[in-house]
Amino acid sequence: MIFAGVDVGGTNIKIGLVDESGKIIISSSFKTGSERPFEEVAEDIIVNLHALCSKAEVNFKQLGGIGIGIPGTVDTAKGKVVAAANIGWYDVDIADYLSSATGLKCVAGNDANCAALGEYKYANTKGYRNIVFITLGTGIGSGIIIDGKLFSGMGSAGAEAGHLILVYDGEPCNCGNKGCWERYASATALINQTRKAAEEAPNSILGRLVASEEKINGKTPFIAKEKGCPVASQVIEQYLHYIGAGLISLSNILHPEAFVIGGGISHEGEYIFQPIQAQLDEYLEKSGFLPHIDVVKASLGNSAGLLGAASLVMQ
Ligand SMILES: [Zn+2]
Repeated sequence: MIFAGVDVGGTNIKIGLVDESGKIIISSSFKTGSERPFEEVAEDIIVNLHALCSKAEVNFKQLGGIGIGIPGTVDTAKGKVVAAANIGWYDVDIADYLSSATGLKCVAGNDANCAALGEYKYANTKGYRNIVFITLGTGIGSGIIIDGKLFSGMGSAGAEAGHLILVYDGEPCNCGNKGCWERYASATALINQTRKAAEEAPNSILGRLVASEEKINGKTPFIAKEKGCPVASQVIEQYLHYIGAGLISLSNILHPEAFVIGGGISHEGEYIFQPIQAQLDEYLEKSGFLPHIDVVKASLGNSAGLLGAASLVMQ
């Protein structure tokens, strides 16, 4: 049987047809256009899914269902988007809407939870049963799999590791609180830390690189570090400590077998994984009895959300 997966982002919506083994048969993407009422976005999703089905010669009516990941708080049991600030959806019955418009089963979930499911089901070569998936992007998304099942708390409102408090009374966060982990360890935070360090050391390699580039991104400090810049090394070292500190807190609550890290920053590879793993190992080994936790790179990239969303309707 074939299932549709939909991954709604602030800028683009990715859609795809997926088989039971997690193979993406065909996929495409289009602009979210989140300034429009949600009904228009939902209609766009349906039209694009029909187009995808025709292209792949799949009978739309025979799809096993539509799974949809949304960037926000989604009550999966009710199929309702409680709040998705990035796309302006509040109290939206998305699952009902799609299912009455198409006659297909529809299940909605949080995008990071979907990505966690995708990684767990389709990229989990070591067969972990307990993972915490973390994506370092604009904010920090997270998904928790306990004993093979997604854990998301009452009303699916939990598993938001990005908002655990790292610095009491620290930097203000969009959630209304202060000092949240994502204010220090997201890609956005790294960019801010890079900008600040460059301003403070304008003659460093990093300072000159930032001055010459139109846009700083998560790669900028790594490029400067490659060129031997001590200021950039310091920025990265501090940033990785922020990531590691959050993982240590999570290890104390959940002690998963692995932290699976995704998002653009994860492409920096050993530059980031080796120091984070070392920081976590040092902490765990100090106790003398806490079991080792792997820190591994997410491997499905952009497809994790789509695959995980499709898997929501496979039960
Ligand atoms: Zn927050």
